[in-house]
Amino acid sequence: LGLKNEDLTKLADLGQGNGGSVVKVEHIPTGTIMAKKIVLIDAKSSVRKQILRELQIMHECHSQYIISCFGSFIAEPNICICMEFMDKGSFDSIYKNIGAIPIKVVCLVANSVLEGLTYLYDVHRIIHRDIKPSNILLNSEGDIKLCDFGVSGELINSIANTFVGTSVYMSPERIQGAEYSIKSDIWSLGISLIELATGRFPFTESLSDDDDTSDLDVLREEGSDSDSDWSPDSYKDKTPTHRDSTFLFNKRQQHRISKRASKRMSKNATFDADGMSSMSIIELMHQIVREPAPRLGASFDEEAEEFVDACLVKDPDERHSPKTLLEYRWMDDARDSDFDLKAWTTTF
Ligand code: ATP
Ligand code: MG
Repeated sequence: LGLKNEDLTKLADLGQGNGGSVVKVEHIPTGTIMAKKIVLIDAKSSVRKQILRELQIMHECHSQYIISCFGSFIAEPNICICMEFMDKGSFDSIYKNIGAIPIKVVCLVANSVLEGLTYLYDVHRIIHRDIKPSNILLNSEGDIKLCDFGVSGELINSIANTFVGTSVYMSPERIQGAEYSIKSDIWSLGISLIELATGRFPFTESLSDDDDTSDLDVLREEGSDSDSDWSPDSYKDKTPTHRDSTFLFNKRQQHRISKRASKRMSKNATFDADGMSSMSIIELMHQIVREPAPRLGASFDEEAEEFVDACLVKDPDERHSPKTLLEYRWMDDARDSDFDLKAWTTTF
């Protein structure tokens, strides 16, 4: 398509994330409406070119469960990725807007995500790495599609934000430093499904941060005499493989974070609606590793509960792959579903 920034007119802001922002644009020569993701990157031009090469894979993804890509280009100091515009936005904004998502819709979301993950892995050997409601998009045709999958290791590594890649949807094994596997995506799916079905992020009943030192400070204090080389700066400069192991907390750090967490819990702190900002991410990660996995809750169908429980098995070796999960009863319900998703999209 030979996309150029000059040919794109901004129509609206769609949202802002950790790694950049997304705007709705029109490609003037063709009249095509697109979503343009603008990522500020901190890299040499050779690395930028490498990123563009890696992003080529996105053009080769052809699936009804995956966002299609029109092209990518460098517009100094940013990389721009032009993708299919999804007019109903992400499930994250949908549930924040309308409240808990009907379970029949959540069932279809689960099925589409599994189909998308299976396609990415079977056809392109890609692991998504960032499954969460803001990366699951809907359009008024009733299509549910995945975006923001990890095609470019160099891009992930070059985004000019230290905490990109640190996510509250991370699986326990990832938090403990294991390599990403397709099973990590399944954990993130389980967390996302609970969030959509209940209208709130799980794990949030416990904590609010009323302490003036953050857990990051704990880690920094510890840094000099510990066996961890963690610090925000070293984090940023690492290669992806090294970075992948930076969330191994050492024993003393775990102990201190744990003590801080119980202190706060004993104060009977409540969690405010605006959520994550008031809770330390590191404390949450500690909780994900130590506590039993969250559950959907008994007010939902047995099939749904069984499926979510299977996604949230803490040991990745015991957790199922997308293919096996597609054989679950709840996914039969999805395939047999007569729920009119297209009609539902007109209700908000
Ligand atoms: P993070 O940066 O932590 O991954 P995020 O996914 O919310 O968070 P972005 O990927 O930058 O951040 O996306 C910002 C918002 O833009 C999303 O929440 C979504 O609502 C919207 N968005 C992204 N891609 C599209 C698209 N193709 N069509 C319509 N809206 C989109
Ligand atoms: Mg995103």
